[in-house]
Amino acid sequence: MADARSEPITAVPILRPSLALLRPFRRDLAIALSTLLGSLACVLGGPALVSYAINHGLVHHHDARVIEVAGILYLCLALGFFFFSRIQTRMLSGTGELILNELRKRVFRHLLAQPLAFFDSESSAQLLSRMTADIDVLESLVQSGIGSFLTSVGLFFTSLIVLVVMSPVLFGVTVICLIPVTLAAARYRVTSTRAYTLVRHRIGDTLATLDEGLAGVRVVQAFRQEPRLERQFGVRNKEQLEATLETARLSARFFPLVEGSGVLSAAALLLLGGVFVHLGLTSVGAVAAFVLYTTNLFAAVQSVSQLFDLLQSSGAALGTVFALLGVEPAMQDPQHPVALPRHGALELDHVGFAYPPRAHDGKEHTAAPSALVDVNLLIAPGEHLVLVGPTGAGKSTLAKLIGRLYDPTEGEVRFGGVPLASATIAELRRRVVVVPQEGFLFRGSVLDNIKMGNGEATESEVLAVLARLGIDRHLLSLQGGLHGDVGERGSRLSAGERQLVSLARAALADPAVLVLDEATSSLDPGTELEVEHAVSVLGANRTTVTVAHRLTTAERADRIAVVADGRIVELGSHAELMALGGSYAALFSAWSAGALNATR
Ligand code: ADP
Repeated sequence: MADARSEPITAVPILRPSLALLRPFRRDLAIALSTLLGSLACVLGGPALVSYAINHGLVHHHDARVIEVAGILYLCLALGFFFFSRIQTRMLSGTGELILNELRKRVFRHLLAQPLAFFDSESSAQLLSRMTADIDVLESLVQSGIGSFLTSVGLFFTSLIVLVVMSPVLFGVTVICLIPVTLAAARYRVTSTRAYTLVRHRIGDTLATLDEGLAGVRVVQAFRQEPRLERQFGVRNKEQLEATLETARLSARFFPLVEGSGVLSAAALLLLGGVFVHLGLTSVGAVAAFVLYTTNLFAAVQSVSQLFDLLQSSGAALGTVFALLGVEPAMQDPQHPVALPRHGALELDHVGFAYPPRAHDGKEHTAAPSALVDVNLLIAPGEHLVLVGPTGAGKSTLAKLIGRLYDPTEGEVRFGGVPLASATIAELRRRVVVVPQEGFLFRGSVLDNIKMGNGEATESEVLAVLARLGIDRHLLSLQGGLHGDVGERGSRLSAGERQLVSLARAALADPAVLVLDEATSSLDPGTELEVEHAVSVLGANRTTVTVAHRLTTAERADRIAVVADGRIVELGSHAELMALGGSYAALFSAWSAGALNATR
């Protein structure tokens, strides 16, 4: 079902989606571009004024007034430039930030809409971590690069045109000096891109080593692995340094060449210009203006080359972001959804499932073995079914299919006779609620977290639910009561309290089917009892499927399904399975003997 997810997501062409993204901002962008033209006109006007002042105020007749007026006009041009580029920078970065804001929102919304299978594939996990880096690159482009890039490109082309029009012969001199710069720029583009990409990879490696070392610091210290990690980090750090030094070497070769060529061409122009003036082919002012325009031209080349790496990485970043946005969620609402009944039997009809293959190094795929094979099961309304079996048998997978966190690769899961895939996802989530092993809490108050089960519930309704579950006193006694902050991922609560909150959340949602993945972590006996009681109240008159890790849970269930190697190998009540004398009976006897030994 989710084959597309397992492919490494590669960048896509960015022109069309970029234009679509820019469309709503076209008015602001048009204003920004027209101010760009204004600032360009101011820059280009400078040398023309200088030329006029030289020719009319100095060379032909000494007229101080012409020079004064030219000076004042030059000042006006400078103010004009200041004004236009201020608006341009404000508009471009403001609009750029709005666009990034929109992009971040779209990416987040898009990710939340993806089914679990999307997050299983390795390439998407990589993509997620890269996403932050990609958006960061775009951020720096918006903040520092885009305005100067556009100005420099504009300046380059307009200077070229002005130079050709002014004197094609002198322009020839500029072109001769520009040729080595252009060749070097083309080479620099390739080598610097390679070098900067290497730097980014090396930074990633260094960070990964740092991250792993810090995350596993206890193991590192316990097994005295500090020297090994230090060595490893030293190697990575050195590699990063070498890569960075290479970019510095490339810059040290290229940028002085651009500057040197600029100076050289100015000198050549002055020399040849002098001869031209002597021959009466041109004026002193024109030569001066020519030199100034050429200087602009070389400055523009330098600035574009400096920004090139940023631009190229921004292009790549946008490509991956658009590629991600182009991934259609594999699990979508059907075109003609069928309503689910309020109550009904759960039916698994020849259900088979294999997880999407994992990508290795983003290239090869190894086919995943089937996690479930030909599972048939009919769970009556209100029945309590418990899934037991060894680790990796397929119990959690079965529970996830019932909650439609995944779609089966074969067969069908039905509720009240309606295939789960025919209902809308929203309606399905109202009928079937999956409570995972670890109650995941979000930042906010206890009440906020419980109300995720039903946003419309009032505080007194929440209190009534808590009282029914018998956990109101416990939760109200927490610091700050129901309005107390749970901390990041609920870190201010104990594991047992997090479970109580997540059970209360499920109770408030009041689903017809509850899928519980029993927590493996042991709690203190008091909280354990509270959780058990809350679970039994929650399960009363409700179809409950529990992935059990404790056989006491199995003992209390209506029926037990023993899962092994993705198949249901035994099915029946505790008494029936004990009488059968199969694997459940063996498991139970071993467990009772163990429990007996433990109490002795
Ligand atoms: P149980 O809950 O019985 O311990 P699971 O249903 O978690 O077993 O796993 C069944 C099989 O599917 C195992 O072989 C496991 O390695 C594999 N599996 C579980 N989750 C994933 C996943 N997200 N991606 C790929 N394989 C998985």
